[in-house]
Amino acid sequence: MKIAWIASEAFPFVKVGGLADVVGSLPLELARLGHQVRVFLPWYARLSQQPTPIGEVHFQFRGQEQRAGLAGLEREGVEFVFVGLSDFDRARIYGYPDDLRRFVRFAQAATAAALAWGARVVHAHDWQAALAPVLIAAGSLPVASVFTIHNLAYQGRWNPEDFFSWTGLPRSIYGLSGLEFFGDINLLKGALVFAERLTTVSPRYALEIQTPAFGEGLDGVLRAQAGKLSGILNGLDYAYWDPANDPHLEAAYTIDQPENKHLNKRKLTRELGLAEEGVLIGVVSRLAEQKGLDLLLAALPNLLSDGVALVVLGSGDPALEAAFSRAAGGAPRRLAFRSGYNERLAHCIYAAADALLIPSRFEPCGLTQMIGMRYGAVPLAHAVGGLADTIEDGRTGFLFEQLHPEGLLAAVFRFLHTQRPEIIRRAMQVRFDWVQAAVAYDKLYQEVKR
Ligand code: ADP
Repeated sequence: MKIAWIASEAFPFVKVGGLADVVGSLPLELARLGHQVRVFLPWYARLSQQPTPIGEVHFQFRGQEQRAGLAGLEREGVEFVFVGLSDFDRARIYGYPDDLRRFVRFAQAATAAALAWGARVVHAHDWQAALAPVLIAAGSLPVASVFTIHNLAYQGRWNPEDFFSWTGLPRSIYGLSGLEFFGDINLLKGALVFAERLTTVSPRYALEIQTPAFGEGLDGVLRAQAGKLSGILNGLDYAYWDPANDPHLEAAYTIDQPENKHLNKRKLTRELGLAEEGVLIGVVSRLAEQKGLDLLLAALPNLLSDGVALVVLGSGDPALEAAFSRAAGGAPRRLAFRSGYNERLAHCIYAAADALLIPSRFEPCGLTQMIGMRYGAVPLAHAVGGLADTIEDGRTGFLFEQLHPEGLLAAVFRFLHTQRPEIIRRAMQVRFDWVQAAVAYDKLYQEVKR
């Protein structure tokens, strides 16, 4: 079956967070099940590889016909198609005042390209692609729509006047049971209402978002749509994340021969000027409120005892970056902070760390805990969303219920006083398979296909 994915990131071409890992992996598994999959992405100025021009697509914007070039890259049976719009000839992926307009244009062009290709199902991801199911429903287009929520916190809000003049969509889709949200257009809400099926990236997150505590203002909408909502757990690319075969590491190791892990720890602690003896805890994260790293900051004075060192890699919120830099300056042997996105260092941290801290306020699925388990870095995490779905408390990691520095410290304490080799071994054995997710999506596509 022809399935078109529409998304804003895909590893290895362009990545900001976990969305890219999903979009870079799951389509490959769907192709192995026999589907023809095209993944439509913006043609960003900065891609890790240059695609080859393959054609063009026409779409309407502000009532005028627009043209976008298409370029392709093939990867393991999946065609990644990049939509060429001048809106994406910029240094960064996100973070511009006109992001909503940029992604409206992208979603319009990508939906048109998916239809021209003959897709039976359009599967859109997060707010950047959320317009696709709206266009399909409003235009009664002959294709089924599925929408995946990777993160409910980012919704794509804008004023309705601009939106309707750009898209030419009928005003009847505005209103309480449409795209209206406190006087704005809310693209994510549009997808929740208009997509035929909704999925989240873990079963627990699908339930959590129907409650006010996790619903980001959309819990009522989600409760009303609960009949078409399900959670399908993400997998991990175990060929890419493999401590036995990882070019970034100082020394390879396996579950049966984990001794070399300490060589990675020695290399990294020396590189960062951290104490080599004792326990090394790692953090690899976007620095956003969601990730709960303010809790870690509050817990630092109690955490950085003689036996514990901490390495934090993250980028995002400047205030958090400054706070971690300051804290690292005051405890050079105990705390190292590196800002920015750094694939190599991320791998080295997973390989070197004894444990990984993940105090997220909410977590739709989370990949870092899966990567941590694979590399024998035991996850210590807040018991929410995908973290609670993937970590077995006391067996493959430690969960804490209380979102408070004390809760975090209690999880660290439990880790420090456990039989570490056993828990590391169990964690390294856990597998979250993309095949299972692909089979679940295949079933969903069969149910909705045109
Ligand atoms: P989210 O998608 O919310 O950012 P996930 O845990 O689902 O969180 O995925 C995060 C992914 O991004 C992981 O693959 C992690 O290794 C990677 N990552 C996060 N921050 C960095 C960073 N500063 N440098 C390198 N990789 C990072």
